Amino acid sequence: MSGLAELTAKPADALLGLMTAYREDARQDKIDLGVGIYKDDTGATPVMSAVAKAEALILQRQETKAYEGPRGNADFCAAIEAFIFGAGAPEIVAGHTASFTTPGGCGALFLGVGLMKRMGAKAVWVSRPTWPNHSKLVQTQGLALKEYRYAEDGQLAFAAMLEDLETAEAGDGVILQGPCHNPTGIDLSVEQFAQVAGVAKARGLIVMLDVAYHGFAHGLAEDMAGVRTFLSVAPEAMISYSCSKNFGLYRERTGCFVLKGAEPRAVAAASTHIAELARTSYSMPPAHGSAIVATILGDAALRAEWESELTDMRERMVGLRKGLADALVAKTGSNRLGQLSHQNGMFSQLPVTAAAAEAMRTEDGLYLPGSGRINIAGLKAADTARVAEIVAKHL
Ligand code: PLP
Repeated sequence: MSGLAELTAKPADALLGLMTAYREDARQDKIDLGVGIYKDDTGATPVMSAVAKAEALILQRQETKAYEGPRGNADFCAAIEAFIFGAGAPEIVAGHTASFTTPGGCGALFLGVGLMKRMGAKAVWVSRPTWPNHSKLVQTQGLALKEYRYAEDGQLAFAAMLEDLETAEAGDGVILQGPCHNPTGIDLSVEQFAQVAGVAKARGLIVMLDVAYHGFAHGLAEDMAGVRTFLSVAPEAMISYSCSKNFGLYRERTGCFVLKGAEPRAVAAASTHIAELARTSYSMPPAHGSAIVATILGDAALRAEWESELTDMRERMVGLRKGLADALVAKTGSNRLGQLSHQNGMFSQLPVTAAAAEAMRTEDGLYLPGSGRINIAGLKAADTARVAEIVAKHL
C-alpha cells in the first residue's frame, strides 16, 4: 500500500450528517435544531438589508480586484478594534494593538493558535464543553489539547474552571469564548472575566478571546463588557472576531484577528509572524465581506439599520428562549430546564444522552446532535410546544 491508500478515513462530521438526514427526511413536521446558523421564523437565513445596500454601494464604487495586502481592509480592522477596545481607546492610540482581516472567525483562530505555537506554547486549553472546531484547530497544529471545566449540568462551573487554569503551565495557550458560549449559552459575568484575566496574568498564560456572537446576547456594548474588562487586566491577549453571525456573512468568510501587546515593539514583531502565517496558508484575506462591514459601520444610516436588524434577531432569540424554557418547565414539571431563558445567544445544551437525541430524531423528527446542543434560532415559535413535548418524552 502506498500513496492515498495510506490514509484512513476520518469519521464523518456529525453535524453535516445530521443536515443530510434532515434534508432526506420526508416527514412534514420535522424540526431542525442542529444547524449552527441563524434562521428567522420562516426557517430562512436572509441577507440583511444593510448588507444588501452596502453591497450595491460597493459594486458601484469598486475599481479593482487587486490584492489588498496581508492585513486586508484597514477600515474594517479599525472598526473591529473600535468594537473591542472602544473608539480612540488608549491601547489603539499608543500602538499596543494590531489587526488582520481573516477568512472568517476560523481564519483568526488559526492565526492565533499558530502564534501561540511560535510563542512556545506546548498546550492549549479549551473549555469543556466547547465548539469541536476549537479542539481540532489546536490538534492539527500539533499542540497538546487540554480542557478546563466550564459548565456542568447546565450551570457554570466557575470554581472548577479557575482550579483547572491554576494548573496550567506558564506559556500555555487558552481559548476563552466571549459572549454566547457555544454550545452551552452560559457566559461569564464581567467580574468573572476579570478574575480569569487575573489568573492568566499571574500564570503567564496566552489567552485568545473568541468573539463569534457579538450583539447576540444583550447588545453591542453590553456583550463586549466582559472582553473589554479582560483586556484591561491582561497585558497581552489575542481576539478572534467573526462577522458570520451578527452580519449574516457566513459564506463571505469575514473575520478579524486582533492582538493586544504590552509594548508596541513586541506587537510589531508579532505582526510579522501573523503576516507569515497568513501568507503561507491563505495568503491574502477575502475582500468582499470586510468591505461590506466597513461600509456599514462607516455610514451612520446603514449602521443604524444594521443595529436595528441585529436587535430584531436578538429579541427573536430571547423570546424563543423564554417560550421554550416555560414550555419545558410546564411539560417536565421540573424547573431544571428553566435555566435556558437565562442563557445567551443561539445555543443551549439539553441534558440528554446521545441515544435520546437519536430517538428524538427517529421517532419524532426532532433533529439535534448527540451532544444535546440546540440552536434556539432554528425554532419556529409555533413549534415550541411540540419541541417541549418531544424533549420531555425523551429526558
Ligand atoms: N467560534 C465559535 C465559538 C463559533 O461558534 C464559530 C462559528 O460557528 C466561529 C468561531 C467562527 O465561525 P466563522 O469561521 O464561520 O466566522
